[in-house]
Amino acid sequence: MGLARSLRKVHSLPRRFRQAQMIARALKSRNHPILAHIIPIRRCNLSCAYCNEYDKVSSPVSKAEMIRRIDLLAALGTEIITFSGGEPLLHPDLDELIRRIRHHGRIATLITNGYLLNPERIRQLNRAGLEHLQISVDNVQPDEVSKKSLKVLDKKLEWLAEHAAFDVSINSVVGAGVQHPEDALIITRRALELGFDTTVGTIHDHKGQLQPLQDADRAVYDQIQKERKPGFWAFAYDNLFQKNLAAGQPNDWHCRAGSRYLYICEDGLVHYCSQQRGYPAIPLEKYTGEDLEREYWTKKPCAPFCTVSCVHRVAMIDLMRENPRQALAKFFPPAVAGAPAQLPAGVKFLSSLFLPPEDGRPQNGAAKAMAGAVMRMLGIK
Ligand code: SF4
Ligand code: SF4
Repeated sequence: MGLARSLRKVHSLPRRFRQAQMIARALKSRNHPILAHIIPIRRCNLSCAYCNEYDKVSSPVSKAEMIRRIDLLAALGTEIITFSGGEPLLHPDLDELIRRIRHHGRIATLITNGYLLNPERIRQLNRAGLEHLQISVDNVQPDEVSKKSLKVLDKKLEWLAEHAAFDVSINSVVGAGVQHPEDALIITRRALELGFDTTVGTIHDHKGQLQPLQDADRAVYDQIQKERKPGFWAFAYDNLFQKNLAAGQPNDWHCRAGSRYLYICEDGLVHYCSQQRGYPAIPLEKYTGEDLEREYWTKKPCAPFCTVSCVHRVAMIDLMRENPRQALAKFFPPAVAGAPAQLPAGVKFLSSLFLPPEDGRPQNGAAKAMAGAVMRMLGIK
């Protein structure tokens, strides 16, 4: 498994480069979507009690129609296209759809319950060019609320650790409806042991809104944060959104759903997100730059207690683009109020290259030249 992990690291280098390009383009311009979730099939092979995103009867969207929608998203400039559901692995042509995304040079990712994974299916996903896969594991033992348990999925996780060439991230949950809060910690530790990225979500209601954490959930949540050693964006995300949500506090942010994030349902309509379907509900083929611009500015009343983490993460890029110094101060708050922001060394270095000095002096020539060289290396004009 050690060899598989090392190979995954080597294979990930071109992917990291493309991710850096994607972030640089998203920081440079707000005229294109950063992330779209697209539903190839609404049907799911499970029936989680909390879920409002599946049915038991729908057929897959036809391959031709899915390819048309992927082409439309690429034409809008969408950077990352993620298959969600229902259960996307139930779609018979999923691998061809992944190839279509890669054909456009976009990043292809998948959210799955993992039940249909086996070594050969994982190798097929490698060959198709999948770049990231996310599984939510809800509990250690299956119960009446969710069968997405570590007991059932652990073997699948081992196969992923052994065979996947793509990045894998394991999401656990804390909050109302979770019977054993400590399960999230056990799941996170297992994911870290297997070399995966981890996220922890707070349970939301059927409108994507926060359910406050009880003391036991809170203690588990804090322990997970101590152990999972998040990277730059995850660390910033925790400071910006998760800390408040875990404390039951609202977040002051601007949701850019309908602009920088799109949710494309099985009928091909663009919605804000999985929890706010019906707005604006415009067919994808009629969605234009004007719609992206309007929705960039539309204030969503559900924003303060929203728990839809992928839309939060997208908003962080726009925060950085609009006011980088203010954003960095929020991402890396000082230990004591009034002190300067505690920037990690790498972030400090990049800010010295790309941001003008705080005292209003012009940026020095060497920093300007190096910043230009970095942008050219990423292929960004
Ligand atoms: S596996 Fe996912 S889509 Fe299926 S019922 Fe559970 S939460 Fe919903
Ligand atoms: S704030 Fe945005 S992402 Fe969150 S529920 Fe509302 S529309 Fe969806």
